[in-house]
Amino acid sequence: MENSCDQFDAIVVGAGVMGSSTTYQLAKRGLKVLLLEQFDFLHHRGSSHGESRTLRATYPEAYYAAMVMDSLRLWEEAESEIGYKVYFKTHHLDMGPADDKSLRSVIANCHLNSVPHRVLDSHQVSDEVSGRIQVPENWVCVVSEIGGVIKPTKAVSMFQTLAIRNGAVLRDNMEVREIESDDLRGGVLVSTASGERFWGRKCVVTAGAWMKKLVKRVSGMEIPIQPLETNVMYWRIRDGHEAEFAITTGGGSGSHGGFPTFASYGKPYIYGTPSLEFPGLIKIPVHGGRGCDPERRKWEAPDPDALASVKEWIQATFGGRVDASRPVIVQSCLYSMTPDEDFVIDFLGGELGKEVVVAGGFSGHGFKMAPVVGQILADLVVNGEAKGVDLRHFELARFEGNPKGNVKDFEDQVKFSNSYEDEVAISAASPN
Ligand SMILES: Cc1cc2nc3c(=O)[nH]c(=O)nc-3n(C[C@H](O)[C@H](O)[C@H](O)COP(=O)(O)OP(=O)(O)OC[C@H]3O[C@@H](n4cnc5c(N)ncnc54)[C@H](O)[C@@H]3O)c2cc1C
Repeated sequence: MENSCDQFDAIVVGAGVMGSSTTYQLAKRGLKVLLLEQFDFLHHRGSSHGESRTLRATYPEAYYAAMVMDSLRLWEEAESEIGYKVYFKTHHLDMGPADDKSLRSVIANCHLNSVPHRVLDSHQVSDEVSGRIQVPENWVCVVSEIGGVIKPTKAVSMFQTLAIRNGAVLRDNMEVREIESDDLRGGVLVSTASGERFWGRKCVVTAGAWMKKLVKRVSGMEIPIQPLETNVMYWRIRDGHEAEFAITTGGGSGSHGGFPTFASYGKPYIYGTPSLEFPGLIKIPVHGGRGCDPERRKWEAPDPDALASVKEWIQATFGGRVDASRPVIVQSCLYSMTPDEDFVIDFLGGELGKEVVVAGGFSGHGFKMAPVVGQILADLVVNGEAKGVDLRHFELARFEGNPKGNVKDFEDQVKFSNSYEDEVAISAASPN
């Protein structure tokens, strides 16, 4: 197949959740679409594998709630098309010091965006969840009925299956090396490491933690998306308490309801999901990690300081109900962080102009919004714009003259164990 050149309306590079959802959206609109993935489909080396992702609409930034609400509808729509569930509803609970700026922004945005929620003090929250969660006196909690768990690998597989059903062509073990303008016909030529070439009227790059490298190679452009290696940790629920931490169908966080998804603001930011994928275990990680080169992962154990702070948090919050002595399962995953933790969704510009759309930097919180991101990217490909969606906060231009990007009125939430600038240097210096 050396130098073969098949033609497509759109070529999508990267089959994580964003690329798979985009391929499905494009194929559904009748476009001839090709999805190329460098590894096996459903591999575990990127960001979209595993057993659980939180869905919540409570955000310190005002612009995500609407995207989450649209995604919620689209998750349910895709589920009814495929005939099985990937989203499991429960309540979501945010907690933190009453004066925490991020949490205060969360509350303000719930009002602004009409996200159903209740603000509870430390006593009220204990009543709300029948004593299963204890927080300090000076903390507040926000309970919202918009919450739940998405099963990531199953969801990616769902989008890929729906894409195939709608006529898309999916190829794995196809590493994209070049994306060039086709000066003769217009559109782009996409070449793989195996020597195959494809022509696309448009190209969408959803390369996750490899985004920075791929974009640099094909355009020379530096985009500030930093891969971080992070650890997912599962902890054992003590005998007799398993049912108290289980999710239940239909949701609810009260005495008869299931356990909520949760986030604890402050330092560090800790999050978790109810017991679902591994009965008797509960997922409680820290939002953060170590800068890395995705090609040279260290697969390291959790940072000792981060581990110590989660242990302390579990002990204080869940008392003796969860064994805080050690996590019983530790998994590795990649974040692709932007300096402001906002997404990048934009035309690449430069020589590739409006032929190439890039979507990355989902910064540890993008999974829930994959359906709407797929829809936005399909709109950009088909119409050149995404009507009714404000993409201002996701433009590449926000980093021009301001490397930190969007200015925010609250503290950073992610914990980096080395400085962003050092790791950018490491990444840029790596071959390939
Ligand atoms: C531990 C962890 C917890 C998270 N928790 C949540 C959560 O609770 N809620 C939430 O909403 N989000 C969460 N996220 C974030 C969410 O999972 C990610 O935002 C999302 O999975 C990013 O998907 P992606 O498609 O951009 O990247 P990826 O899944 O990494 O996909 C990119 C794909 O591109 C491929 N690729 C790269 N370069 C090339 C190339 N040159 N040629 C061909 N293919 C290429 C890669 O192999 C990869 O398969 C979490 C992430 C992690 C790691």
